[in-house]
This record gives sequence, structure tokens and C-alpha cells, in this order.
Amino acid sequence: MLFKILDKSEFRSLLVMLLESHEVIAPRVIATGQDGRPLHNYLPVKTPEEMDLGYETTLNSAKTYFLPYSENLSTWDFNEADWTQNISYRMQPRAIIGLHACDINALLKLDKVMAREFYPSPYYISRRKNSFIIGIDHTPCRGAFCRSLGTDTVNRGFDLFLTDLGDRYFVAIDSDRGYSTLHRVTVRDVTDEDTGAYLEVRKRIADGFDPDLPVKQLPNLMDIEFNADVWDKWGARCLSCGSCAMVCPTCYCYGVNEAVAMDFTSGAKVRQLYSCNLADFATVAGGHNFRPPRESRLKYRYYHQHRGFVETYDEPKCVGCGRCSRTCLAGINPPDIFRDLLAKEEQS
Ligand code: SF4
Ligand code: SF4
Repeated sequence: MLFKILDKSEFRSLLVMLLESHEVIAPRVIATGQDGRPLHNYLPVKTPEEMDLGYETTLNSAKTYFLPYSENLSTWDFNEADWTQNISYRMQPRAIIGLHACDINALLKLDKVMAREFYPSPYYISRRKNSFIIGIDHTPCRGAFCRSLGTDTVNRGFDLFLTDLGDRYFVAIDSDRGYSTLHRVTVRDVTDEDTGAYLEVRKRIADGFDPDLPVKQLPNLMDIEFNADVWDKWGARCLSCGSCAMVCPTCYCYGVNEAVAMDFTSGAKVRQLYSCNLADFATVAGGHNFRPPRESRLKYRYYHQHRGFVETYDEPKCVGCGRCSRTCLAGINPPDIFRDLLAKEEQS
């Protein structure tokens, strides 16, 4: 990893340069919350001034720029006795500015599933390869538990990563294109004073987190507490709306439908993101539903995040961003469920 110092005025020049050659996505204020604080989402911007890099978090994750909620995998046209199929991958360059460490870690987890050696998704890979990513350090978000999961810092999966030192950024460079892009503006080498300031900022951020949740115990705990009434308690509240999976940066379950025009001249194969909390998620041909109770659907979402994914990849799927807690109208949130499971084990 290489490090450089970038003055903020030069950072603006870098953004202007990227805006000339890329579709640029960045956190933008979209509304004001009930508590009077601004609400943000990752959205296209046309000028650096539209970005708000001091944001706390976004309502939706940046997942949609890699796994859209809905996309055509292919389309086809029928022409008399012949037909043509059209498949296209996104090739236009895109720059995503201001991703936090948890969201970059989320992309690394999606890579494990969507860009693995067998059955990789070319749709995902083309978007990933054509996305220039600039991450940024930030003070801890309310309700996030990324530090417990080790996703509050990141050392790969981005092109540039910024830490705000006041009038300048401490920049970590993790790719050739990050290096060459950064060197199109004026940068300088890191001094001892910069390193001292960087370490101070990092310490302040680390000290700002809530105490760790004991997440390392979770896979084992979940095995033991598979039949615990904790799942009934939280499942009874669940509205089966699926919002938690939509905003989650690492939920990737999807369904594929074929839509054929009424006159049979054309059609499309459409992939649509889905949620394991939706009532028909485990319904198969013939109408049998393997998970009719919402308690069991909620439970399996947590088992995939903190048990199944660990078994396959040696790490949880969840990055602790807290978006599912914020979006859930029923107040269902991972830290409270973990605490209930731990309390259950302590009682037994
Ligand atoms: S946990 Fe909350 S957000 Fe998720 S499906 Fe249930 S009610 Fe909806
Ligand atoms: S499960 Fe919730 S906290 Fe974990 S990554 Fe998904 S949205 Fe974030």
C-alpha cells in the first residue's frame, strides 16, 4: 500500500477530472429525518458541491450500482422462424466517491459470491471492474456495530481511500489506476507530522465506537440456540416486508423471471433482487412453502448472515452497517437479537 498527501483544493480538481470522464456517484442529501438530521443516499452528481462527504450513512447501500434491484440478463427478438438474443454488460466507467470502510468490505464479501471461480456473474464483474472507488474514513455511525465485525477499517477493495486531516487528505492507494489517477493532480509525500495526525484521527475514530458485541461466539451460539424462543419473539414482530434485505449491502438473493411480449415478438430474462423474509421466498413448484412462519424466515436470514456464510467463507456476511435496523418499521435489529441470544445461553 502506498500513501500520499492530497490538499483539499487538489481533491476538488480530482473530482472535476473524474466528472469529465465518469458517471460519478456520491452521498447526496435527499431529505431531513424526524430528528432534524439530513438523510443521504448514493446518487449521481454533476458537481463536487452536490456531494456531502461528511455524511453519517446512507439509507440504501451502494449495492444497487453492482447488483441492481432489477436488470435484464438478456433480451430476445423473434423474427418469423428466426430469433436473436442480446446480452450486454455495463462498460461505461463509473466512480463511486465516499464509500465507508464497511461498504467496501461489503463489496469484498459480494465478490466472494458473485465473482468466484465457478459460476461468476459477468454482469456483476463488469460493473465492479468499471467502478473507480474512493473510500473515506468517518466518525462512527449511531447503531452501527462494524467494529465488532472488524469491518470498520479496510485495506483493499478500493482505488483510493481518504482520511480527513483538516486542510488535506491522507490517501491510501490500492491500485495502479488509483495511483495514475491521483498523480494527474498535485500530491506530495507523507511527512512524520502527517503520519502523527493520521494516527491521532484513527485513534479518535476507534475510541468513538460503542463497546464490542461478542460476535465471534455467534456461529456456535446460533447452533446451540436454534430452537430458542428468541426467534419467536422477534419473528412475531416481523412484517415480512423485505426492506432489511433491500437496504443491506451484502444481501444478494434474487429471482429470475421471463417476460414475453403479448404478441410473442420479443422477451426478456429479468433478474430481480429478493428477500428471504418475503412470505413466498421458499415456495416451490406445486405451492409447497418450506418456511411458512415468518419466525423461521427471519431466523434463516440471521443464520445465513452469521452462521452459513461463516461456514463457507470463514467470515460473517454482515458488515454491521446498521441499515437494516434503521429501515425496519418493527424495530428489529441485530444487536438486540444477539444480546437476547447471549442472555438465553447465560440462563441455561
Ligand atoms: S425484519 Fe423488519 S425490515 Fe426485515 S422483513 Fe421483517 S419487518 Fe421488514
Ligand atoms: S444485516 Fe443489517 S447490519 Fe448487517 S450488513 Fe446487512 S444491513 Fe448492515
